Parts: sequence; structure tokens; C-alpha cells
Amino acid sequence: MKSSGRMAWVVGATLVAILFSSEGRAAGAGGSAARPPVIILKLDDVNVSTRGAPVSPRWLRVAEYIEKNKLKAGFGIICTSLEKDNQAYLRWIKELNGRGAIEFWFHGYDHAVHSVSGTRFNEFNGRSYEDQKQRFERSQRLAHEHLGFVFHAFGPGGGVGNGLFDANTIRVMAQQPEMRVWLYPQPLDEAGEKLQAQGKVVILDRVWAVNLESKPGLPDYQRLVDGYAKNPQRK
Ligand SMILES: [Zn+2]
Repeated sequence: MKSSGRMAWVVGATLVAILFSSEGRAAGAGGSAARPPVIILKLDDVNVSTRGAPVSPRWLRVAEYIEKNKLKAGFGIICTSLEKDNQAYLRWIKELNGRGAIEFWFHGYDHAVHSVSGTRFNEFNGRSYEDQKQRFERSQRLAHEHLGFVFHAFGPGGGVGNGLFDANTIRVMAQQPEMRVWLYPQPLDEAGEKLQAQGKVVILDRVWAVNLESKPGLPDYQRLVDGYAKNPQRK
């Protein structure tokens, strides 16, 4: 994937963020009008439901809405959910994946906060390279075994405010063969640019003015519209 004009904007909502990629924004010969940015809807925290349905009714509703309106979206899976013997859940994911409107991506093995000497860290922060690598590999194995596909995109899970990944995560992303896209959770920095320059991983940056994640379940439509309007040239 070429990343020259790529970039993105991201919004968040309930479980949601939106990445706007301008990959298709070709400056046509003769100065024709630029195409609008490609928008990627990023929804986090797919997990098994404890209440009988394959997943929570909110997921069922949002997936139905996306397919009915011919949108595309990415849903991030918490991979411990794939270890549970819940055939209806696994089938729901496989069927959606097979129909093509929704891509499932890697949102972490357990998405759990852990402690090191009394300090709490998010899943992909403060852990050894080996540990983080195993989290990716175990999750890819689970996906392959239970869903029949592997993940090509990654977005780390949060919980505490001291960082969503570290240098070891970058190393894993550089090496994990199937990983192609990083839904970057912070403004693009030097480390991200360096990783991207290696050519394997495309980093999707965000436009924070349109982020809706601060109020899960209460998307602020006006903020989205205003943020979008203020960033017409974002690439
Ligand atoms: Zn999450």
C-alpha cells in the first residue's frame, strides 16, 4: 500500500473512532478537484456477551446499520474472547468478515491493565518485547484457528493514561509479518514515522478535533461537523 497521500483523521465514538485516509486523493492531471478523504470507522472492544446473544445488542445494531447503509468499518477484537467456546459469537464474526463490509482488527489479547512495581500500565506498555510479541502471536493463532483469518491491523487498548504502547510494541509491529496497518493512538511522532519509513506498516494518524471517544455512547455530532470543517486539507 502506498502511503504518500495517506492520512487520516480519526473520530471516536462509543466504541468508535473514524480514520479519514486520503489515499484516494489524487491530484488529478490538469488540476481536477481532489477527492474527499477516505473515512475509516474504528470501533473498539468487540467481546463476547455474557447475556446469551452472540455479542451485545449494540454491536448487532451497529453492524446491521453499517451493512444496510453500505458503509465500511473496522471492529477491534479483544482476543481472549476467542478462547471461549461461544460458537454463536465466532459465527457472527466470521459471517460479517466474509461479507466484507467490516474488517476485524487486533485490539489486544486481554486489554487488561497490569502493574509493574505499583505503577499501572496498559496492555502494550511496560512489558518486555518477548511478552508483547507473544500477545500478538497468541492472538493471531486464536484468530486463525477460530475465525479462519488473521489480523492485518492493530490498535492498542487503553485503560490508564500513561501511554498506549512503547518501544517494544514498535519493534513487534515492525516484525510481525501479517501486520500492515496501525490505528495510531497518539499524534504521529518520530518513532511512528521511522516505522512507516521501513515500508511494512502504514500508520493511520487522526484528526483529534473530530474524536468522539471522550464520551462513549454520547457522540457529539456538532463537534464532529465543526472539527471536520476546520480540517479540509488534512492529508
Ligand atoms: Zn478498547
